[in-house]
Amino acid sequence: MSRRRILATSALPYANGSIHLGHLVEYIQTDIWVRFQRMQGHEIHYVGADDTHGTPIMLRAESEGITPEALIERVWHEHKRDFDAFGIGFDNYYTTNSPENRAYCEEIYGSLQAAGLVARRPVEQFFDPVREMFLPDRYIKGGCPKCGAKDQYGDSCESCGATYAPTDLVNPYSTVSGATPVRRESEHFFFRLSDPRCEAFLRAYTQQAGHLQPEAANKMLEWLGAPGESRLSDWDISRDAPYFGFPIPGTLGAKFFYVWLDAPVGYFASFANHVDRRAAEGTAIERDHFLKPGHDTELVHFIGKDILYFHALFWPAMLEHAGYRTPTRVYAHGFLTVNGEKMSKSRGTFITAGSYIEQGLNPEWLRYYYAAKLNGTMEDIDLNLADFCARVNSDLVGKYVNIASRCAGFIGKRFGGRIGAMAHGAQAAGTPTTLLEDMRAAQGTIAGLYDAREYGKAMREVMALADRANQYVDHEKPWELAKQPDQEARLHEVCSTALNLFRLLTLYLKPVLPRLAQEVEAFLSIPPLVWSDAGSILAPGHVIHPYRHLMQRVDPKQTEALVAANRESLPGAAQPATASTTADGTGTASAAATATRPAKAGPAPATADGSAAGTAGRKAPATADAPGIIGIEDFARIDLRIARIANAEKVEGADKLVKITLDLGGEPRTVFAGIKSAYAPEALVGRLTVVVANLAPRKMKFGVSEGMILAASGEGPGIFLLSPDDGALPGMKVK
Ligand SMILES: [Zn+2]
Repeated sequence: MSRRRILATSALPYANGSIHLGHLVEYIQTDIWVRFQRMQGHEIHYVGADDTHGTPIMLRAESEGITPEALIERVWHEHKRDFDAFGIGFDNYYTTNSPENRAYCEEIYGSLQAAGLVARRPVEQFFDPVREMFLPDRYIKGGCPKCGAKDQYGDSCESCGATYAPTDLVNPYSTVSGATPVRRESEHFFFRLSDPRCEAFLRAYTQQAGHLQPEAANKMLEWLGAPGESRLSDWDISRDAPYFGFPIPGTLGAKFFYVWLDAPVGYFASFANHVDRRAAEGTAIERDHFLKPGHDTELVHFIGKDILYFHALFWPAMLEHAGYRTPTRVYAHGFLTVNGEKMSKSRGTFITAGSYIEQGLNPEWLRYYYAAKLNGTMEDIDLNLADFCARVNSDLVGKYVNIASRCAGFIGKRFGGRIGAMAHGAQAAGTPTTLLEDMRAAQGTIAGLYDAREYGKAMREVMALADRANQYVDHEKPWELAKQPDQEARLHEVCSTALNLFRLLTLYLKPVLPRLAQEVEAFLSIPPLVWSDAGSILAPGHVIHPYRHLMQRVDPKQTEALVAANRESLPGAAQPATASTTADGTGTASAAATATRPAKAGPAPATADGSAAGTAGRKAPATADAPGIIGIEDFARIDLRIARIANAEKVEGADKLVKITLDLGGEPRTVFAGIKSAYAPEALVGRLTVVVANLAPRKMKFGVSEGMILAASGEGPGIFLLSPDDGALPGMKVK
């Protein structure tokens, strides 16, 4: 086997939020692959960095009263701590705000400019006249042009789901200063992706040599359009000051590189920094063999499917025309759902890496569970917390660790820790020698599955082998042999055989469970296992250390506590499932939590503010948490009653609300209902409707609302109050 030389990366998390379990899908996926390749004896360098530039970082630092540098420094330590805790073995974890990155960006930009691939043209954008800055869409709010809902973002309405341009907003305002934004023109710099050279290159690149997964290659064809159709538009790579980022050379500090230009370059910068650090320690790595074309090395990017656009189009086109090598593979994965639904702060399933650690859960449980779920496609994966407990307990503790825990004690107590000879029996299936040989024979299959990122299948293979090892122990019953003085030799043989099987299973699981493997290596007193060790055994006479329990079971109470710790009880706390991707499309890391809307990144990749880019994980899905199935007992908790509207009046100072006095069959109630756009208060008096009678009273600006009346609304305008059929009386129960 020839020795591969690989530079591997995971997408860069944005330095504006915590790492969560959605992010970890990707880091764990990459880390397993990297550890596997290393065990194979390949040269592999795994680098990452925090993605640190852009308007959100600048504004967040400002709101905290610190410099952007101080903010990104603090977040870097938090991210690094989380990655370390989950065993993500970066060879270098760096920052995009580095001198190396600036130098690469300037050089690449200079080359693109020299190649005639940078254009300048005016762009009209919203400008905050108070703060004196151009506003990314995310920082503009106003009334929905369709339904009139207030305080909606500049691209879509969270109330009715309409999508539109920020210019369509009614009474727009800047969320930075509150001022009314004005339209202002400014010169922007564009990477000319529409140039025929880029198009020709991308048509070839995206379809050839397995650079992309088949489904991703097809997606690119869609985006590229038919030959000659040229659906690519130029990509806006500049932002105006004030901006936290790298100034564009020759603009006297007026223009900065858009964060999405410098973020992927950050992969190279982190690698260059790694090379320098290793050189300082005396290890030479041929930097340009990995970064320049013409060398037998691989560049492999792991990303979320929401940022495929950047990694499959912009990034390779930039590299190709700036004299750098292009990615060998771009591996995109799907999003994470928790218990079948998108991660939600209100449900407590938006779980941070930090909270997982603080609650005392073992990171390797999650590594194993993700491995058991992952495959090489862009399909979403689900973390079902009940299944998580069941699977970890049954596979890792019940099958794998169980082998050692049933046999190791006898080696320690009865044979002074000394391993004996392997059992030899007839060559029939199920005898120990055959079993070891079968288990060794699986190594090619398992290796192929790891390399293809089919970890789920690999785990099934390994667990099937663990089942067979357990059957062997069950059959031999060392605990029975131990009671029979004349079976001493047999006991030694059986336990030695079982530990050899256990050692081989450990080797197969090591990419997924590096920490546990390390403990096993210490316990077995052996050097770190590499793949070729599958051919050897623990030699008779080898002395091991006393066995200590290797892994605890997960208690479902622990996952319950984890969810409770992450639950935000604030009403409307269905926060964006995107701790790390932000306002202007930054954060190369996929948020990796499902967005219920498709990415808006259609065929036109490059709008003036870059908002079309990488938006899938960018902001909250427009729809609130989709309701799951409830039982009848859940429904029965809602006390629905017929009510007569005894009085209705407008509320001074509230343009949407009507103050309603209800009669629930003698019991008066006051509720405030946002239905003024659809009903004149006086027209409501006397009619019957349906009220949620046991809703907790809610204190509002204008008084206490003691219930909620039911009304229907849909995509379009209009609110429609519910009415019972004739004959219903106030106070009747609705069920
Ligand atoms: Zn609307």
